[in-house]
Amino acid sequence: MSDNSPIHSYHAHVYYEPATRGTAQALRQRIGERFSVQLGRWHDVPVGPHSAAMYQVAFASEAFAAFVPWLMLHRAGLTVLVHPNTLAPRDDHLLHALWLGPPLALKPDVLPLRIDLADESPIVPNTTPHLAPWS
Ligand code: ZN
Repeated sequence: MSDNSPIHSYHAHVYYEPATRGTAQALRQRIGERFSVQLGRWHDVPVGPHSAAMYQVAFASEAFAAFVPWLMLHRAGLTVLVHPNTLAPRDDHLLHALWLGPPLALKPDVLPLRIDLADESPIVPNTTPHLAPWS
C-alpha cells in the first residue's frame, strides 16, 4: 500500500439460500465479466463466522469505488456483507462492515481479534472482465 491506509483489501460475502442459489450464480457471473476480483469457492454450508451459505468476493481497495456501487444496484435481493481487511477480523466484520440488504447473524467467537500481516491473503484476481461495469 502506498497511502498508509490500514485497509489492505475488502471482502464482499454474497449470501444465498437453496432457492436463491441461481440468482447468486447469475450475480457471480456478472461480477466476473465486469470486475478484476478474486471469486472464492461456493460454501453451501455455513463456514467461519457466517450463518448462511455464501461465496466470497475479495477485491483490492482500488476496485471499491466501481464495484460496491455496482453491487448496490445489482445484488438482486441477495444480502451482501462488505468488510475491510485491517488485520482485526472481529472488528472488521462486526464494527466496520456495511450490509447491502438485511443483515444476517455472525458468529463473533470464531473471529480473531488480531492477525499477522503474513496471515492476510493477498488478492489474486481470477476473473477476466470484458464488459464495462454499467453495460
Ligand atoms: Zn471476509
